[in-house]
Amino acid sequence: MDLYSGHINKLIEELAALPGIGSKSAQRLAFHLINMPQDKVNRLANVMMEAKANVRYCSECYTLTDREICPVCANVKRNHGMIMVVENTRDLAAYEKTGKYEGVYHVLHGAISPMLGIGPSDIKLKELIERLEGDVEEVIIATNSSLEGETTAMYISKLIKPTGVRVTRIASGVPVGGDLEYIDEVTLLRALEGRTEL
Ligand code: ZN
Repeated sequence: MDLYSGHINKLIEELAALPGIGSKSAQRLAFHLINMPQDKVNRLANVMMEAKANVRYCSECYTLTDREICPVCANVKRNHGMIMVVENTRDLAAYEKTGKYEGVYHVLHGAISPMLGIGPSDIKLKELIERLEGDVEEVIIATNSSLEGETTAMYISKLIKPTGVRVTRIASGVPVGGDLEYIDEVTLLRALEGRTEL
C-alpha cells in the first residue's frame, strides 16, 4: 500500500534497516527529517559522510579512530603489555570511562556466533595473535557474557594458552547476556579486579 510518496518510503526503508530501529521509529524519524530545516538536514548528511570517510581502524588495537594510532595506543604511559580484548569500540569506551584501566585494548568488532555464521576469521582475531609477538604479559578477555561472548572467550584462550601469555577473563559480575556498555563503572571495575585465569 503506497500511502506515502516514494521518496518517504525509501527513507523509511533505509532507516528501518538500522539496528534498533523498528518500522514505527523509522516512520517517526523519516517525518521528522522531512520537517527539519534544509540546512539542518544538510549538516546531518555531511556529518555522516565525513565520519564515514575519515574514521578508520587504529593500526594497533583496531578501535575506530580519526588517526593512524588511537589516543590510548599512542599514550606511552599506558601498559602496552596488558591487552584487554573487547567486542567493540563502545565496550572500550565503557572501560575508558572508569579511568582506572591502565593497559591497552584490542577490539574484535564482533564475536564468534555459529548461529549467525560469524566465524573466527570474521573478527579481528588474527590481528590479536599477531600482537602477541610483541612484549605482552597478559590478555584480559572482556567479551560480553552472552553465548557469543563466552564462545569467543573460550576460543581465544585456547589459541593463546600455548604461547605462554597469561590469559584472564573478567569476572561474571556482569549479568548474563549483559552488554558491557550498559553496565555501571563500579560493576565494570569489580569485574576487572576479580578476573580469573583461563
Ligand atoms: Zn589503538
